[in-house]
Amino acid sequence: MIIRKLFKFENAHIVRGCSTQRCSQNIHGHSYTIEVLLESNYLDNGQMVYDFGLMKLAIKELIDSFDHSITLWSGDDKGYLNSMKNYSNRWIQLPVSPSAEQFSRVIYLIVERILELTVMQNSERNVILNSIIVHETQTGYAQGFKQDAHSLLMGKIELKDILFSPQVVTEWSDCHLWTKILNKESLVNPSKV
Ligand SMILES: [Zn+2]
Repeated sequence: MIIRKLFKFENAHIVRGCSTQRCSQNIHGHSYTIEVLLESNYLDNGQMVYDFGLMKLAIKELIDSFDHSITLWSGDDKGYLNSMKNYSNRWIQLPVSPSAEQFSRVIYLIVERILELTVMQNSERNVILNSIIVHETQTGYAQGFKQDAHSLLMGKIELKDILFSPQVVTEWSDCHLWTKILNKESLVNPSKV
């Protein structure tokens, strides 16, 4: 069975190299909708695949990092990167360009790692991330699966190369959240949310 949780954020970017000049040459924003699709053949004590309330913890917090942020590609012009970081406090830097396709891969890897580290408390079993769908507009989306997220053909993404600005980090409930995730520390679910 697959369950789906929606998240929304407003985010700015430039997509270098794309065909549409408005997108490749201008900072612009989108109202993103993110679909997180979880899958299991089992149900927990509440006869659910995974309680939606539990997805409001680290998963929501990290996805919400993108809200009112600008997303930068580390391969972009250094002058552009420095000026964005100088004049905007909420930014995220990725090792890949912030297209909807790459957003789906990046968010896949983040949520996948969170699930790997999560200590389940309510008999959830074999909960896996089916895919991430990123809606950049109301008419187009990208859907990334495990093989996409880990594909070297689409550009290697290592979690350690995803950088969150100091202001983003200070707004998390635990400012060490990303460090703990990179260090593969357990994330213990609360028994109640
Ligand atoms: Zn765009």
